[in-house]
Amino acid sequence: MDLVQSQQGAVRVLAVSGRLDIATSDIFRDALLALVADGAGRKLVLDLSAVNYISSAGLRVLMIASKQARAAGVAIAIAGLQPLVAEIFQISRFDTLFPCHPTLESALADRPEAPAAQARTGGRAAADSDGIRVRFWGTRGSLPTPLGLPQLRSKLAAAVQAGAGLNLDTPEKARGFVDALPFHIGGTYGGNSACLELGADDDNVVLLDMGSGARQAGHDALRRLAGRPGTFHIFMSHLHWDHIMGFPFFVPAYIPGQRIRIYGCHEQLEHAFRRQQAEPSFPVDFSKMGASIEFVRLEPGQVREVAGYRVTGMLQLHGGDSYGYRFERNGKVVVYSTDAEHKPENAEDVRHFVELFQDADLVVFDAMYSLADSVSIREDWGHSSNVVGVELCQQAGARRLALFHHEPMNDDAAIDRLCQDARRLEEITRVGKGLDIVAAYDGLEIDA
Ligand SMILES: [Zn+2]
Ligand SMILES: [Zn+2]
Repeated sequence: MDLVQSQQGAVRVLAVSGRLDIATSDIFRDALLALVADGAGRKLVLDLSAVNYISSAGLRVLMIASKQARAAGVAIAIAGLQPLVAEIFQISRFDTLFPCHPTLESALADRPEAPAAQARTGGRAAADSDGIRVRFWGTRGSLPTPLGLPQLRSKLAAAVQAGAGLNLDTPEKARGFVDALPFHIGGTYGGNSACLELGADDDNVVLLDMGSGARQAGHDALRRLAGRPGTFHIFMSHLHWDHIMGFPFFVPAYIPGQRIRIYGCHEQLEHAFRRQQAEPSFPVDFSKMGASIEFVRLEPGQVREVAGYRVTGMLQLHGGDSYGYRFERNGKVVVYSTDAEHKPENAEDVRHFVELFQDADLVVFDAMYSLADSVSIREDWGHSSNVVGVELCQQAGARRLALFHHEPMNDDAAIDRLCQDARRLEEITRVGKGLDIVAAYDGLEIDA
C-alpha cells in the first residue's frame, strides 16, 4: 500500500493505492488520523481510485476517522471507488456514511454522485453431504420474534398475486407453488431464540444453547426416544436470557429417568439456570424437575470427548463473556460461535478465530448486524456482522457459513438481503475454494 498526501486548493487529499486490509490498516489509520487532527474546519478527500481491495479492518479505520472528523469539524469525502470496492462499501453500508464521488475531480468540486450500483447476484445453493446433521430450532438473537399479522398478511398478498392465473387447484400444486416462492414470501426466518441440535447416536441428544427453540427440540427428542431414557448433552455459549429461557419449557427435564448434562465455561452456570426458575419468576422451582440434571464446568481450550464428539471451547468477546465451540466427529467439523464481537483490526483476535474455524465444514456465526452498524452505533454491543463472518471463514478455509442470531428488528426481507450481500462479498473476494452461505432459519437442517 502507498499513501500520497497533497493539497488541492483548500482541500487536503490523501491518495491511497494497493490493498487496505489488516496488514496495512495501522499505517493507513496513523496517516488518516494525523490529517484529521490537523485539519480542523477543512475538507479531506480520500482518493481510493488505486485501491483494489478493502477488508473490514480498513473499513474500521474509516469508521474511527469519521467519528474523529465529526468531533474536529472535518468533512471527509471519498473519491474514485473501483467497482469491487464500491460494492464492498454497499454491502457493509459504508456508502451511507460518506459522500462517495466517482472521481477526484467531482469530489473536489463537491458534486455528490453515488458510485454506480452494481448488479447483485445470489450465491450458490448449499450442497449436502454425509456427516454431522445440524438442526436449527431457534435462530433469532436477543428475543423471540414471532411473525406479526401485518407481515403474514403481506406474505399472503404477495403469494396470491404471484399465483394469479395459475391453476393451483390441488394441495400438491399449491404446495409446489409455495415451495418455489422466494423465501421471504414463502417462508420465514422464524422467531425462536438460539437452540441447535447436532446429530448423535445411542439415545444421546446434543443441544447447543437453551433459547426458546429448546421447547420444540425437547418434544422432538422425546418423540424419537419413544419412551426410552436418553442422555441430553447441552452446551451453553453463555447465560444471557435469550440462551437459557427455553429450559423451563424443556419437557425432558421434567421426566424421571431422563439424564441431562449441562456443559459450560461460566462459573455461574448452575446459578443462572436455578435463578430463572426461582420465585416469583416461574411457578416450578428448578429443584422440582424430575430428570437427573448435572452441571459440567468446561475449561476453554481443553478438548473434551462427549457423545462421540471432540469438543473445544473458546472465550469470545461479549458482555459477561461467551464461549464458542468446535465440534469434531468422523473428520467433520462444526463450529458454533454466537454472541461474539470481533475486532478485525486486531491480529490476535483474528488468529484465534481462524484457528477455531480452521477447515470447518460449517460455521454458525453471529451475524446480527451490517458491518457499518457493528463498528458504529452498535460497537461494544457484543455482536458481529455478515462481512466479518465471510472474512474469518475465508481465512480459515471453512466450507459453509450459516448466518445466525438474527436481529429482531430485521424482517425476512432484510435478513435475505444480508445473506445475499454476504454471498456477493464471498463471490468477489473468493480465494481458492468457495464458501457456501446460508441464513439459518428455524427448521433448517444441514448435513455438514
Ligand atoms: Zn444472544
Ligand atoms: Zn448474549
